[in-house]
Amino acid sequence: MKLKTLALIGATGAMISCTPSKVNYENYADYPVPSAPLIEMEYAPNTTLFTLWAPTADEVRLMLYESGEGGHAYETLPMEADKEGLWKIKVDRELKGNFYTFNVKIGDKWLGETPGINARAVGVNGQRGAIIDLADTNPEGWAEDKRPELKSVADAIIYEMHHRDFSISPTAGIEHKGKFIALTETDTHNPQGASTGIDHLKELGVTHVHILPSYDYASIDETRLNENKYNWGYDPLNYNVPEGSYSTDPYTPATRIREFKQMVQALHKAGIRVVLDVVYNHTFNTSDSNFERTVPGYFYRQRPDGFFADASACGNETASERPMMRKYMIESVLYWIREYHIDGFRFDLMGIHDIETMNAIRQAAQEVLPTVLIYGEGWAASAPQLPTEELAMKANTHRMPGIAAFSDELRDALRGPFNDDTKGAFLAGIPGEEESIKFGIAGAIQHPQVNYDSVNYTTQPWAAQPTQMISYVSCHDDMCLVDRLRTSIPNLAPDALTRLDKLAQTAVFTSQGIPFIQAGEEVMRDKKGVHNSFNSPDSINAIDWSRKTAHADVFRYYQGLMSLRRQHPAFHLGDAELVRRHLEFLPVEGSNLIAFRLKEHAGGDKWQDIIVILNARTETAKITIPQGRYTVVCKDGHIDLNGMGTLSGTQANVAAQSALILHR
Ligand code: CA
Repeated sequence: MKLKTLALIGATGAMISCTPSKVNYENYADYPVPSAPLIEMEYAPNTTLFTLWAPTADEVRLMLYESGEGGHAYETLPMEADKEGLWKIKVDRELKGNFYTFNVKIGDKWLGETPGINARAVGVNGQRGAIIDLADTNPEGWAEDKRPELKSVADAIIYEMHHRDFSISPTAGIEHKGKFIALTETDTHNPQGASTGIDHLKELGVTHVHILPSYDYASIDETRLNENKYNWGYDPLNYNVPEGSYSTDPYTPATRIREFKQMVQALHKAGIRVVLDVVYNHTFNTSDSNFERTVPGYFYRQRPDGFFADASACGNETASERPMMRKYMIESVLYWIREYHIDGFRFDLMGIHDIETMNAIRQAAQEVLPTVLIYGEGWAASAPQLPTEELAMKANTHRMPGIAAFSDELRDALRGPFNDDTKGAFLAGIPGEEESIKFGIAGAIQHPQVNYDSVNYTTQPWAAQPTQMISYVSCHDDMCLVDRLRTSIPNLAPDALTRLDKLAQTAVFTSQGIPFIQAGEEVMRDKKGVHNSFNSPDSINAIDWSRKTAHADVFRYYQGLMSLRRQHPAFHLGDAELVRRHLEFLPVEGSNLIAFRLKEHAGGDKWQDIIVILNARTETAKITIPQGRYTVVCKDGHIDLNGMGTLSGTQANVAAQSALILHR
C-alpha cells in the first residue's frame, strides 16, 4: 500500500447525501481518533448498534446473516458517517444469534467483507461477527472470580504452555484434550498414577500460566478439527475473541468465550494467574486482513518505497505509533483484563512496538490491575520502520518501567547460541560465559561485580529493576532444554543430562529476574530434536506425562526450586538497590563455576546468608566460602529446604554438574 495512492483515493470525496463531505488526510497522524472506546457491536434486546471506524470510506454497508458461515446475507444496510471517522447504524429489532460483516467502499472499490477490527464474538473460523449478549457467556460464579493474591510481580513464576501440548497425550488424565476446559478438570491421574492438568500445576508451584496465543488465529481450520492439526497460533485473525479450535464447539459463538472464562476461573481457584500471549505486531493476512479492509494502510508500517514493511517476517508489521493502533492495543489489553480476568501479557516481538505505546499500555493496565505482569520479546525479526531509540527493544527496557524483556544473555550463556543448536556453552563445559550468567543472576541491572565487556549480546545493563528481566533457558521457540543439551553436548549420558537440566534451572530460579519455564521441562520433555515445532504434529509437541513418573526426581527438584523461590524473598528482591546491597559474587578460580551470596537477611529473609554455587564442570569444584556453619538445602541434584546436613568451615565441595545451596 502506497501512502500517496491512499491520499489520492481519499481525495475522491463522498457522493451520498447523508455523508459529510470527506476530508482528504495528508498523513496518518491527521486521521480522527474516536474519544470513546471502539465498540463495534453493542447488543441490547430489540436493538443493536453497529459502529465501524473507517475515516477514509466513501460508503460502508452492514451485512446480516443467519449463520456464521455459508449462505447469503439476508439483509444489507447502509451505515451512516458520524463524527470522528465512525460509521454507525442502529438496528431496532432482536438480533441475538445473528451474524454480521462490514463492507467498506473507497472510491469505486469495495474492500471486501470483514467482521471489523474489534469483533468480540465470531462464527466458525472468525469470518463473521456474532451478535451475542456477553453477559450470557459468564460461567456460574464468574462475578465472584478472584485473582490469586500477588504482592509483587517479583514473586511471579511463569509456566509457558500450549493447550494441545499440555493435555493431548493419552498419558494426560484429561477428558477434554487440547481444549480450554482441559484446565478445569480435576482428579487428573494418568495411567502411571501421576496427577496431570491443573492438579499438576498446583503440585509444581507456579504462580502464572502463560498460554500461547489463544485469541482467534487463522492457521487451524475450525471446521475440520477431526484432522487434529497443530499450530502455535502466531497468526492473528481476531484479537479480541478466543480461538475456536480450543473450544468444544467453534460454531456457537458464546461457547469459546464461556469456556475460556471457565479456564481462567479454574486457574484462579487453583491459585494461579493467567498470562495471555498477545501478537499485535503482525496479522495473518496483509491485503485481506481486517485492518486493510477497514482503513487501508493505516494499521501497518510502510517501507520508504511504499510497500508493506515486514519486521515480523510474517508479511507485515503493525504501526503501534499511529494513534488509532495505539488506542486499539490499549483497549484490547484492558478488554482482556476486564472481560476475561486476564492477569498478564506477553508481547510477541515487542521490539516492533514503540516505547510510548508500551508505556501507555502498562499505565492503563496498572490502573485497572496494579499487579499486572507485562513482558515481551525485546527484539524483532528484522529492523522495523521506526528509529531504534523509539522501539521497545531489549536495550530500551530501562525506559519502560513495569515491563520486562526476555534475557537471551542468560539463556544462551547457559545452553548456547540461538542460531546454532549444536553449540553448547556454560552447561557444556565451555568457558567464557561466566559474566553473562552473572549478568542474568543480577537481573540485567547495573551491578558493580559484573564485567559488562564480557557479557554476550550487550555491553551494558538494560534493566532498571530486576523485575524487568525474564530469566529462562528455554521456551516454545528453539529446542526444548533436553533436546538442546543432547544436541550441543556429544555423547551425553542420561545421568549427566538430568544433572545439567537441574543445574540450568537452578541458575534460572536463583536469578533476580522473573523465572520462566516451558511446560514439560519439569518432566524432561523432549520434542525429538525438532527446533521449530510451530506446526509439528502432536507426536512431536505433546508432553508425555509418563515421564513425570520416570523422572520423578527431576519433578521434585523443580518443585524444590519453586518452593525455594516462593518461601525466600532473598531470591526475588524486586529492587535494584537491594540486589546491589545483598547480592555478592564470590571469587572463584577457573571457568564454568559461579558462586554468589545473598547476605544479611536479604529482603527480610529468615536465612541470614545464602550461598549458591553453580558448577558446570565434569569434576567436583572446591571453593572458599566465608567462615560459618551452614545448612545444606541443595546438593548433588537434590533439594530439601529443611536441610540435608551441615557444612562448617571455609571450604565447600560442589559435585560435578550440579548446584550447591547453603544457608546460615
Ligand atoms: Ca481460529
